[in-house]
Amino acid sequence: MTTRTLDTDYLIVGCGAAGMAFADALIAASDAEVVMVDRRHAPGGHWHDAYPFVRLHQPSAYYGVNSLPLGSEAIDRHGPNKGFYERAGASEICAYFDRVMQQVLLPSGKVRYFPMCEYMGGHRFVSRLSGDEFQVRVRKRQVDAAYLEPSVPATFAPPFEVEPGARVVPVNDLVRMASRADGYVIVGAGKTAVDACLWLLETGVAPEAITWIKPREAWLLNRHFAQCGELVGSLFEGLSLQLEAAAQATSLDDLFARLEATRQIFRVDEEVAPSMYTSATMSTGELEQLRRIRNVVRLGRVRRIERDRIVLEGGTLPTNTRHLHVHCAAKGLKAAPALPIFTAERITLQPIRSGLIPFNSAIVAFVEATRDDLVEKNRLCPPNPLPDVPLDWVKGTFIGMQADYLWSKQPDLRDWLERARLNPSRGIMARAGDPQVQAAATRFQANVRPGLAQLGRFAAEQPRANRSTA
Ligand SMILES: Cc1cc2nc3c(=O)[nH]c(=O)nc-3n(C[C@H](O)[C@H](O)[C@H](O)COP(=O)(O)OP(=O)(O)OC[C@H]3O[C@@H](n4cnc5c(N)ncnc54)[C@H](O)[C@@H]3O)c2cc1C
Repeated sequence: MTTRTLDTDYLIVGCGAAGMAFADALIAASDAEVVMVDRRHAPGGHWHDAYPFVRLHQPSAYYGVNSLPLGSEAIDRHGPNKGFYERAGASEICAYFDRVMQQVLLPSGKVRYFPMCEYMGGHRFVSRLSGDEFQVRVRKRQVDAAYLEPSVPATFAPPFEVEPGARVVPVNDLVRMASRADGYVIVGAGKTAVDACLWLLETGVAPEAITWIKPREAWLLNRHFAQCGELVGSLFEGLSLQLEAAAQATSLDDLFARLEATRQIFRVDEEVAPSMYTSATMSTGELEQLRRIRNVVRLGRVRRIERDRIVLEGGTLPTNTRHLHVHCAAKGLKAAPALPIFTAERITLQPIRSGLIPFNSAIVAFVEATRDDLVEKNRLCPPNPLPDVPLDWVKGTFIGMQADYLWSKQPDLRDWLERARLNPSRGIMARAGDPQVQAAATRFQANVRPGLAQLGRFAAEQPRANRSTA
């Protein structure tokens, strides 16, 4: 075992999407030297633990890093994502981040990468294999790119007890089942559970064979309005409809009714009031598929799965050992309080525009590379906590749109936004002649001030609800 000292400008802890997008944008905008550390064997973060049938819920076209496209930027021509930009799966994302490291970051000569190393705090990290220690002298800042590290079922024990003999698997193991089950019981209400249900249906399992234990109903974003590139007009149309809904809303319930009426948001069951929102997107094709599942259990969270019954907060449900229970109840997105993104010693990567982890990390890097004043950097980059409950749509949209307004007043940021492939709204101005864009621009202008004012009022009035597992 040895101890080495390294000198660098930035020490980035975490080589998931956040750390990678930050490093890529930082070295593109400066001559900074960077040391990157991760306890994993390869870049890509939680995608290495993802279930095999996971996909991005947004287009690949604005995921990853700025300097390298992910996928072929094609529009899907079949399946439930038909008509929308393609979405990468986990193996493609992991291979992509490896390529970014090997073909962009390391060849730049500005980046040194230390996989399989545990960061211990105090600018010190230790190799998990050799035990070698590294002490880093940081000239500028440490970058915390793991503050919002999500938890996924492969690494998060079920939040319920399992009686020996009951058949319970994490969602990752669903693809490894050697023999059919009499029924599949999906436990969870979030995107993972949605993906598990859709995958079972897609592979031919009858909807009657699926039981969906759903402690909460979620609002889902309509993927039609999350498109970019040649479909960016629909994204702008969506923003203008959201602002119009906000401007006209008389209450929070009225706002969500208007958002639903204009197809900005969906819920699978229109009879149930959603108490969950995590900014996941869905297509109408997927929504129709999910509505085929009729065995939906709303008895709260699962407490215990036994051989012959499931004990929930609000009652019990018969089951048996021929049924496979699928754990999709990890916390997913991390509940972490908002921190100032910039301090004298540290950058803590967090969203600014709601969701969009890579985009936000890249714009923070650009601001870091181009501005010195801490107050100004934090003014341009207000943290926007990851969402959990419907009110977070209001807060997240309000914070994100205010930041967009600030950026639009800074010529260099405007130019950067127009060049950044991670920016979904890139290219709207170039389509100013498109009738869809023109109609959206008129609606946007008419509603941006009253809409934002109303969102601000709703956000200030309502307390934030507690967060819990899916
Ligand atoms: C199923 C799923 C689908 C998603 N789909 C999308 C999507 O379509 N679009 C989108 O924008 N977001 C999506 N997300 C959100 C997702 O969280 C982000 O896109 C992004 O991948 C998160 O990256 P991250 O870098 O913040 O975290 P991570 O990927 O978890 O990376 C953090 C890294 O830090 C490392 N680390 C932590 N602590 C230490 C330490 N002490 N020492 C060394 N290393 C450490 C970890 O090993 C890890 O590699 C999805 C999330 C999930 C779970």
